[in-house]
Amino acid sequence: MKIPGVEYKTLCRYCSLSNELLIAEESGYGIYAYDEPFNNGHIVIVPRRHVSLSELSVEELYKALRLVKRAEATLRSVYHPQGLNIGLVAYPHVAFHIVPRWGGDVSFIKVFFNAKPIPETPIQYAERLRRAWRS
Ligand SMILES: [Zn+2]
Repeated sequence: MKIPGVEYKTLCRYCSLSNELLIAEESGYGIYAYDEPFNNGHIVIVPRRHVSLSELSVEELYKALRLVKRAEATLRSVYHPQGLNIGLVAYPHVAFHIVPRWGGDVSFIKVFFNAKPIPETPIQYAERLRRAWRS
């Protein structure tokens, strides 16, 4: 829903991610530690422009997939997950979510209390991934 007098961009969670969570910036994309992580190390890759999937050019999509591939390699080297889930939010602002997975990572706390303990804050793991991304 669009509110009259308010620029839509200000309501977009991907346009308003904190710079403290920024891991890297490349090829017109921001690579962030996600502020509501499903798991430790959860990364989100978003174009700097507020665009949907259908508004991305093929070249921009290719750049995104290269960054997703690099995120996989970075997360594997830092966290050694047993698997990785990659999810896509297509609209209104396209976002690629890369989530490390481990066996048993959906605990009773999540099931009963809808909360999940994460060993590092997103700001802490952003710093760890920033160093790994550069190497
Ligand atoms: Zn946006």
